Amino acid sequence: MILKQFSLEGKVAIVTGCSTGLGQGMTVGLAEAGADIVGVDYVEADETKALVEKLGRSYLGIKANLLTTEPIDSIIDAVVKKYGKVDILINNAGIIRREDAIDFTEKDWDDVMSINIKTLFFFSQRVAKQFIKQGTGGKIINIASMLSFQGGIRVPSYTASKSAVMGITKALANEWAQYNININAIAPGYMATNNTAALRADVDRNKAILDRITANRWGDPKDVAGPAVFLASEAANYINGYTVAVDGGWLAR
Ligand code: NAD
Repeated sequence: MILKQFSLEGKVAIVTGCSTGLGQGMTVGLAEAGADIVGVDYVEADETKALVEKLGRSYLGIKANLLTTEPIDSIIDAVVKKYGKVDILINNAGIIRREDAIDFTEKDWDDVMSINIKTLFFFSQRVAKQFIKQGTGGKIINIASMLSFQGGIRVPSYTASKSAVMGITKALANEWAQYNININAIAPGYMATNNTAALRADVDRNKAILDRITANRWGDPKDVAGPAVFLASEAANYINGYTVAVDGGWLAR
């Protein structure tokens, strides 16, 4: 009985940045739980499509560059045209730029802020309008970071954007709970994806990071799949505006 609440059978989920890394891990998790998937990315996501279809779920791939808000309306129109509705949005697409704060460029500030927080907000707003129109409620999951809690080093626009993700998650939860929209966030710890390739390649940084991870290993995209399914499911109906750390104990140290 309780496991039924975790089922996403019959749900339609949009995942941004689905081609690789955490986005792909969460997409596969949602599909395993029964959801049909709309994968949005600016590169082809053939591998993700194949993984979803192998599970017997439907996959609609939409190629869009989320550095601007321009594609959002047409993405939602395409989803509604194909499936008639949306139930779940995971705002996962995100980028990082590394440079000493003293030399950080305006472009590296703007690019990161655009995709990591501006697009996340306006995508959420557009999907929330659709949820309200449907009268069904819905789930929005934002991907935050350890740098929603901490300062980080040499990533000022990333820290600013991810701190904002945690803040906006609370702010939107306060306004949209009345429509049965649950908006929460997942803050992944240090996960082995493209995003952290530079850190893992640096022997000293790699060791310093591993020394602090209680679980004693880098995270894997599979590690965020279960929490994403939970937050996307009825089992999380009374969770609003919360950021769940999935960090192998990083914040506990
Ligand atoms: P990744 O670089 O492996 O994946 C990012 C995904 O976003 C890719 O599919 C990429 O194609 C897509 N993307 C990038 N720019 C895009 C654009 N302009 N338009 C559309 N799609 C675009 O990184 P990841 O580690 O899987 O990161 C996913 C999310 O998790 C990001 O928001 C990231 O900040 C966050 N995160 C990652 C870690 C980590 O340790 N890897 C930790 C905390 C948070």
